[in-house]
Amino acid sequence: MPHYSVLKQEKRLLLARNKSKSRRIVNSVKNKAHELQNYLISNKDQSTSNEQFTYKARSFTGPSCRKLTNFLKQTSTHDNNNVNDYYQIIHNSFLLELLKQAICVSCNSIWNGDMSVAKREGLYCSLVFTCCCSHEIKINTSKQCLNTSKRDINVRSSIGANFAGIGHQGLIKLCPISNVPIPTDEDHFSDTIDYLLPTFESYKLRSMSNAVEDACKKSNERKITVGGDGTWQKRGFSSLHGVVEVLSNGPTAKVLDLEQLSKKCSISTGLLSIKYSDPKQYSEIKNKHQCEINHVGSSASMEVAGIHRLFARSKMLCNVKYAHYIGDGDAKVFPKLLSDPPYEDVSITKIEDVNHFSKKMLHHLQKIAKSLKKKQY
Ligand SMILES: [Zn+2]
Ligand SMILES: [Zn+2]
Repeated sequence: MPHYSVLKQEKRLLLARNKSKSRRIVNSVKNKAHELQNYLISNKDQSTSNEQFTYKARSFTGPSCRKLTNFLKQTSTHDNNNVNDYYQIIHNSFLLELLKQAICVSCNSIWNGDMSVAKREGLYCSLVFTCCCSHEIKINTSKQCLNTSKRDINVRSSIGANFAGIGHQGLIKLCPISNVPIPTDEDHFSDTIDYLLPTFESYKLRSMSNAVEDACKKSNERKITVGGDGTWQKRGFSSLHGVVEVLSNGPTAKVLDLEQLSKKCSISTGLLSIKYSDPKQYSEIKNKHQCEINHVGSSASMEVAGIHRLFARSKMLCNVKYAHYIGDGDAKVFPKLLSDPPYEDVSITKIEDVNHFSKKMLHHLQKIAKSLKKKQY
C-alpha cells in the first residue's frame, strides 16, 4: 500500500496536470476569440453609438484621470490571465450538492436548504440559496456589460446565434433541447444585434481592408486578381434581396468587398398604408428614411449590377484595382465589365475558373459525341 505522503504527492501532481490542461484549453479558445472579442465587446475605437460595450479601461482626460483609471483597473472584469474567465454549464442539483458540503456562515452547521431564481433575463439569472436558518446567498450567473443593462451571456449568445446562422429561432430550439432556459425574447435579441451592428460593421470593414492589403502584398502592386459571386435570399429568379462579393485569389480566399442588393424596402412598403390617409406624414417619413432599395431591375441582373458596383468603387474605397476577374460562370458579368469599364487605365482580363471550364468542356464534348453518334446511324 502506498505511503500517505506519496498519495498526497500524486494528488498534487494530478491537480497540477488538470490545471495546466484546463489552462491550455482556455488559452487556445481565448486566443481565437480574443481578437473578435476586442472588436465586439471591448472596442474602444468605435463610433459613439456603441461606446458602452467595453470591459477595458478607456483613456480619460482631466483631473480625475488617474483616480478613474485606478478604479477601473481594480474593478475590471476583463482579465486575460484569469484562467476561470469562461462559462460552465452545470446542472442545478450539482450546485445544491456543492452547497450541502459547506458550512453555513450564519448557523455554523452544514448548509441545508434550497435554491430559487430571483430574477431571470434570457440566459442570465440571479440565484438565491436559502439555508434552513433563513440565511441567503445570492449569486449572478453572468456579468453585466458596463454602462448597459445587458448581460454578457445574452450578448454573447446573440452574437453566436448570428455567427452560426441560426438566429433567434435557432437559439429558441437549441436552449430547451439542452435543458437550458429559453433565451431573451425576439425584441431583446434584435435590440442587442442592432446595438452591436456598428461594431460588426467596423470589424467587417477592417477585416476586408486587411484582406485587400494582403492581396496587394502578394501581387506586389495595387492591381489584383479577384473572383466574384452572388447569391440570393431566395432560390429562383424572384428574390427581393441578394448579396454579391469579390474575393481574393488563392487557397485562402478572403472577402474583399461586398454589397447587399435590395428591390424592396420594409419602411417604404409600410408607408403605403398611410399614403392617402396622411399624405403629409407619408412624404415626411419617405423623404427622411434611409431607403433600402438599391437595385432596380430583375433579380437575375443583381449579380451583374452588384459586381460592377464593387469594381467601380474599389479605387475610391481601398486604392486598389481589380485587374483580373475569375468568372464564376455567369456569362453576363464579364461583358458588362468590358462594355462599361470601371477603370480608365486598366482593361480587365478574364480568367476562367477550373470548375466552370471543366463543366463547359464536358458539355461541349458530350455535344460532339452525340452528333457523331447521329452521323453513324
Ligand atoms: Zn444556516
Ligand atoms: Zn424605402
